[in-house]
Amino acid sequence: MTAIRLEPRVAGLRSRMRGEVLTPVDDSYEAARKVYNAAIDRRPAIIARCVDAADAIAALRFAQENHLPLAVRGGGHSAPGSCTCDDGLVVDLSHMRSVRVDPQNQTVRAEGGCVWGDVDHATHAFGLAVPCGFVSTTGVGGLTLGGGIGYLTRRYGLTIDNLLGADVVLADGSYVRASADENPDLFWALRGGGGNFGIVTSFLFRAHPVHTVYGGPIFWPLSNGAEVLSQWRDFILKAPEDLNGWFGFVTIPATPPFPERYRGETMCVTTWCYTGDLSGAESALRPVRSFAPAAMDFCGPMAFPALQSMFDAVHPPGLHWYWKADFFRDLPEGAVDLHLRYARTLPSAHSTMHLYPVNGAAHRAGRSETAFSFREANFAEVIVGVDSDGSSGERLREWARSYWSALHPFSAGGAYVNMAMDEGEEFVRAAYRENYPRLARIKDAYDSGNTFRINQNIEPA
Ligand SMILES: Cc1cc2nc3c(=O)[nH]c(=O)nc-3n(C[C@H](O)[C@H](O)[C@H](O)COP(=O)(O)OP(=O)(O)OC[C@H]3O[C@@H](n4cnc5c(N)ncnc54)[C@H](O)[C@@H]3O)c2cc1C
Repeated sequence: MTAIRLEPRVAGLRSRMRGEVLTPVDDSYEAARKVYNAAIDRRPAIIARCVDAADAIAALRFAQENHLPLAVRGGGHSAPGSCTCDDGLVVDLSHMRSVRVDPQNQTVRAEGGCVWGDVDHATHAFGLAVPCGFVSTTGVGGLTLGGGIGYLTRRYGLTIDNLLGADVVLADGSYVRASADENPDLFWALRGGGGNFGIVTSFLFRAHPVHTVYGGPIFWPLSNGAEVLSQWRDFILKAPEDLNGWFGFVTIPATPPFPERYRGETMCVTTWCYTGDLSGAESALRPVRSFAPAAMDFCGPMAFPALQSMFDAVHPPGLHWYWKADFFRDLPEGAVDLHLRYARTLPSAHSTMHLYPVNGAAHRAGRSETAFSFREANFAEVIVGVDSDGSSGERLREWARSYWSALHPFSAGGAYVNMAMDEGEEFVRAAYRENYPRLARIKDAYDSGNTFRINQNIEPA
């Protein structure tokens, strides 16, 4: 209905934008409205495919003039679908993906719709990398604004610890720069506060010398799961910062390179990234290889972008996702036992549980130095129920909720905002703790009408 009402006015928006403006009558609308999580099925009235900041400003103004809900789409990966909406306008940045590397100053400027594969591709040619995540298809926008946990976290910090500045379209249509020197309060809020404060049309990052790393997954049978999880926990708390490795429970896919005898079996996995001198890699990994006899060991030297994209095919778009998250300072034996109990009941081939280390360099920032609060946490847990066609959705959600509830009493009391569904205000407050009131004041200063509310929302003070 909204789309029909607006159709006469859409011509005006088209004349103000260089990018495409799609409505439900356009052939490419159906493909354009899809997001990564197929459980999200929303029908925006307008998808404004911006190609530059001027387009983003025009689209934002149009939404406001017509009192439309506004969503901002970066990489489209958020599990709750915070990049789309029903009957509103989507500022779609997915055609803004240019990356410019400055090798002399070791900085990288990435447009707001990039995915990490765009950045990895551009930086690798110069022997550089920006701390990002664990897959290459995730958007730079959402991942950065929520924090950014990945293979380089222990060595170089969260993605936000490497953010030097951002160009932002604010709710009033103005265009500002946020950095340590310009609008420092906005810059503080952008580093963890999500998409609450504006449309970031470009990010400026510090890059680091990372080219060929020694990395990949090592798998163990679930019968060794408790000892592997306990040993990984103890090891990663003290490991050198140039070594990073996350822990998970997974079902072995029925494809090469996995031997047929393991296909379909639930196993535990640790996946490593060693960024030190390659001559020291084998000795850095030696303690890991003695956790227990491994079933499969795929670790070796590889280009950093190859490690970053290694699991892209395991997580294709179009599956139905539900996830729950928490931070942990410690994982006592009682927590390890519970993890193993739920690992034995993984409810589908894609369902999984991951524990990411968030110590090392990420601990060097204080808990109020950026909006991201849980600086003293050592582990970020995410429990994921994934269904191929949505038919088992409730069963998978129930499994994920039950697993999360069992572990929650051991948690630090809050979670990573980027790995949660829409959990409501209490969840958001718990994620930001004492940073919440300052975030709410900054929200009030920059977006008092809560234009940017389709996200892990911070209400204006
Ligand atoms: C398969 C998979 C793997 C993941 N792996 C990791 C990981 O390794 N590490 C990690 O930290 N997280 C990871 N995540 C979580 C990820 O950080 C979030 O899903 C994040 O929201 C994705 O960002 P996006 O830009 O792709 O999403 P979108 O859905 O496009 O956006 C998410 C939110 O950010 C806002 N936003 C996006 N871009 C902009 C922008 N330019 N300006 C203003 N607001 C913007 C949106 O409005 C929305 O509120 C993963 C997610 C998936 C599905």
